[in-house]
Amino acid sequence: MVKKDIDWGNLGFGYQIADYRFVANFKDGKWDEGEIITDSNIVLNECAGVFQYCQACFEGLKAYTTEDGRIVCFRPDLNASRMADSCEKLMMPVFPEDKFVEAVEQVVKANAAWVPPYGSGATLYIRPYMIGTNPVIGVKPADEYQFRIFVTPVGPYFKGGAKPITIRVSDEDRAAPHGTGNIKAGLNYAMSLHNIVDAHNKGFDENMYLDPATRTKVEETGGANFYFITKDGKFVTPKSDSILPSITRRSLMIVAEKYLGLTVEHREVKLSEVPDFVECGLCGTAAVISPVGKIVDHGKDICFASGMEDMGPVTKKLYDTLTGIQMGTIEGPEGWVHEIMKED
Ligand SMILES: *Cc1c(COP(=O)(O)O)cnc(C)c1O
Repeated sequence: MVKKDIDWGNLGFGYQIADYRFVANFKDGKWDEGEIITDSNIVLNECAGVFQYCQACFEGLKAYTTEDGRIVCFRPDLNASRMADSCEKLMMPVFPEDKFVEAVEQVVKANAAWVPPYGSGATLYIRPYMIGTNPVIGVKPADEYQFRIFVTPVGPYFKGGAKPITIRVSDEDRAAPHGTGNIKAGLNYAMSLHNIVDAHNKGFDENMYLDPATRTKVEETGGANFYFITKDGKFVTPKSDSILPSITRRSLMIVAEKYLGLTVEHREVKLSEVPDFVECGLCGTAAVISPVGKIVDHGKDICFASGMEDMGPVTKKLYDTLTGIQMGTIEGPEGWVHEIMKED
């Protein structure tokens, strides 16, 4: 297999059309077998459920090449089960979890020429999603759905190393209590776009959302979970029903405890205790960890001891250990690194 002629080291984080995608359709109460196709366009009726009442959810994971020449992805079973949760909440038919993982394998194999080589820093981003496809005008769930997975090669999230970012405490809310904050739905992003553009215009990298009911507790940003490190080296990460359960964050909790020997606390985190922490990070598939240097709470700066130049020492260990496990240089827990194929 000949790799695509791409300047892997200089790829950005954007959509680039690849050769193949996986598509399965749900009709008459059941999923078809699904297939790999070449057409990147979807033709739908103007009244399709996804266009009217936003029945859509998605996942995101990455495939990459390990040092010993295997094409792998990371914990795809967790993406499958999280998508099942999203579907149930949105009254969409679950795509069977084992079939989800098989479909990820199929689409990555078909696009093996698009998987960046080891050491390039680039990865193949995998985007599974589901939409309601038949016409719906009275408010109700659609009867027909499409599950699709496309892939696109993406560059390293941070070119030239991860610089700490600055976050502001947001005045807008991301997710209502008992709402949809814990599922991966585009609707949670649609309503955050105004706020992120505003944050960027004012010189902030991200918004820190608080719990909407009391506005005293840390939730997450628009697309990543928080963790904090205490002075005595504990790993603390916010717990709330309206936080999206990040697979990176759940993996870091295990890395912190089992690999680094840290005490892990998954609990409510008050905004008022944030100044007591010495390090802060954001976690998600795209960047793995983005170190946070400063949080601005309405003109009041909360500066972490790790500063604005480098990752803090604990963040660096977390980052190196998790990316080492992902890249196959550190032995990970059973099932974390999921082999798709050997490079030939
Ligand atoms: C996808 C997502 C994350 C990160 O989850 P990972 O599984 O680590 O990629 C965090 N918050 C929100 C709102 C998300 O949509």
